[in-house]
Amino acid sequence: MAKRFVAAMIKHETNTFSPIPTPLGSFAVGYPGGRPLSGRAAIDAYGGANIGLAAYIDLAREEGAELDVPMAANAAPSGPVSDDAFERMAEPVVAAVRKGCDALFLDLHGAMVTESHDDGEGELLRRVRAVAPDLPIAVSLDFHTNMSRTMVESATVMTGYCTYPHIDMYETAARAGRTLSRTLKGEIKPVIVWGKRPMLTHTLKQGHAVQPLKDIMDRAVAAERSGEVLNASVFGGFPMADIPHVGLTAILMADRETRAAEALRDSLLDMAWERRADFVYEVEPLAASITHAKTLDGGPIVLVDHGDNVFSGGTQDVMETVAESFRQGLTDMAVGPIWDPQAVKEMVKAGVGTKVTVKLGGKTSMPALGLQGQPLEVTGTVRRITDGRYKVTCPMKTGLMMDHGASAVLDTGAAEILVCSERMEAFDLGVFRHAGIEPTAKRYLLIKSRQHFRAGFEPIAKHIVLLSGPGVTSSDYGLFRFDNVPRPLYPLDRAMTL
Ligand SMILES: [Zn+2]
Repeated sequence: MAKRFVAAMIKHETNTFSPIPTPLGSFAVGYPGGRPLSGRAAIDAYGGANIGLAAYIDLAREEGAELDVPMAANAAPSGPVSDDAFERMAEPVVAAVRKGCDALFLDLHGAMVTESHDDGEGELLRRVRAVAPDLPIAVSLDFHTNMSRTMVESATVMTGYCTYPHIDMYETAARAGRTLSRTLKGEIKPVIVWGKRPMLTHTLKQGHAVQPLKDIMDRAVAAERSGEVLNASVFGGFPMADIPHVGLTAILMADRETRAAEALRDSLLDMAWERRADFVYEVEPLAASITHAKTLDGGPIVLVDHGDNVFSGGTQDVMETVAESFRQGLTDMAVGPIWDPQAVKEMVKAGVGTKVTVKLGGKTSMPALGLQGQPLEVTGTVRRITDGRYKVTCPMKTGLMMDHGASAVLDTGAAEILVCSERMEAFDLGVFRHAGIEPTAKRYLLIKSRQHFRAGFEPIAKHIVLLSGPGVTSSDYGLFRFDNVPRPLYPLDRAMTL
């Protein structure tokens, strides 16, 4: 008789300082009806893409298993998930398991905080375990997981992305899936070995291909490849979360005998801790960074506003970096996308070719930082109107349709500004190209991102300049009030020792 598999995706990276609410509709942006997907619709939408759920779909097919996908939900990072949304995503997964199945495959983020639970993934897994104490469960996670004991103790197999930008989403789930599949066949008996260090690493210092992380990631990847352990993952953690289980984590999958995995865990964690000072990003004033950009030759020069990065919970409408670029006289720029549905409406109403003045962005206040939204008055010609949809061609989320809603391009002379209705990070060149802006032809590209832009924009960038604009994804931890993290915690407590 065919095995019955259940696979589900529930993904949210929660920035507890973000003012953006996260109702159920946030998990359905771009899909008709404003609901997350399930069943055949989920398989059709996500199958074949470079994401974790697609790997589980392929695995079920390879194994000839019957597959139930009760939930496929993914939202851009934002504030805590509403209780209503969490219940409506978690319950179908628990119900599918309750019906009886041979294995559960979960594609989770690992940094979800809900209104009632500071450990969203742990709560989901706890509920699954309550109805299926012995069920084999594979969990694939984002590199930015804030790992909790409940999560570890509830999973049979766990893996995490080895890349940032995350270009191995499919492979991460395939790794977890293969290990669980071997478990089901009785070939192996996996044991999770794990550990943590009390450090918040800056996300700008988490690129897998550069130091300080490169050696650590290379070591983990090599250990898995050589068979030293079944799987090896290191999680940088997500620092914009005021919760007790933050920190850098290593998760190793051992087969029965754990000694080698324990030694590897200690060596990975020690390497990270010894390099802790290299994981701190020292902030340069915004004006100085733009002055520096003006001295650089050629283009495109990619200006990265990392203080307002939507895929870390940013509002995507903080205008200071744009204002400073104008103040310093930058020209030949493409900017965006800036989140401002109201401005899009005004531009659509005015029509292509019309000159308009809009109060752009600055619609969202950030009470956790004591910041008021500050719109920027801009005059220009409405150049284009788009539906905000394009297919990703870069190595991250390859093949997936992106959708930042009704959008419009405002041409001020100095800049073509792309304005959108749904929040979406610029990581693929399609974001500009779908709106008739050729990014390689511009001298400056001002985008809101941290690392993911490297997937699509780094190959065309002559120079990259990081801009420390204000916002809820700032790298200046001094701006945030951490009440619930464990102390001491590096670098909040710089002088700490273990
Ligand atoms: Zn991530």
